[in-house]
Parts: sequence; structure tokens; C-alpha cells
Amino acid sequence: MAHPYHHALSSVRTWGGVPDDYVRLHHWFDESKSILADYRHRALRHHAEGIFMLETIFGATLTLSSGRIIPTRWVGEQHVREDLGRIPSFADWARAIRPEPWMGRAIPLHEIGDTPPAV
Ligand SMILES: [Zn+2]
Repeated sequence: MAHPYHHALSSVRTWGGVPDDYVRLHHWFDESKSILADYRHRALRHHAEGIFMLETIFGATLTLSSGRIIPTRWVGEQHVREDLGRIPSFADWARAIRPEPWMGRAIPLHEIGDTPPAV
């Protein structure tokens, strides 16, 4: 499992600049390790929608310390490809989730005890 710093070094080799230009983006992808310490953490952000979320959070372009401007999405695509070998969709991850009864449990609202009384 690559550390965000090592992903940043790879970005430097591809687009120039210094690791600090990239490491916060790579760190964002891997923050989900804080909730699940094995590779399944990647289901949260390592997919096409995650790459677009990266762009929403960090902006459409990244200005490097060298002055070069590159699309933020390129960095996201690099990170996901380095970890998974390809860019999956979220649907690819969801297909790997084994459905459990509690996931589809529904209770009519009127049966929930804390429903406010009708006026
Ligand atoms: Zn990663």
C-alpha cells in the first residue's frame, strides 16, 4: 500500500514541482484508512466519483511550485491507477458488498416511538 508521500513522489516525476505540491491531495484519498485499516478503505474514495469529488474540494486545477498548472483530476487518476491498476466506478465497489438484511430494513415512521404527535 503506497503512502501519500510516495504517490506525491510519483506525481513529481510525472509533472514536476515538489512533493508538497501534491501530498495533500494524495492524503485526502487515503484518509479513509483512519476508519478501516485495510485495503477496503479504498471503497470510500478510490473510484471515478472520488476523483470528481477531489476536483470539487481542491479546485479544477493545481498550481505547482514551479508555476505549472495541471488539472487536479490528473492527480486523482494517477493515485487510483497506482493503487488499483485502473479507475473503477463506485458501482464496481458496491457489487462487492454482500447485502445484509439490516441494510434494507425499513420501519414505517408511525411505528417509531419518537415520532411527534399529529396536530
Ligand atoms: Zn490510496
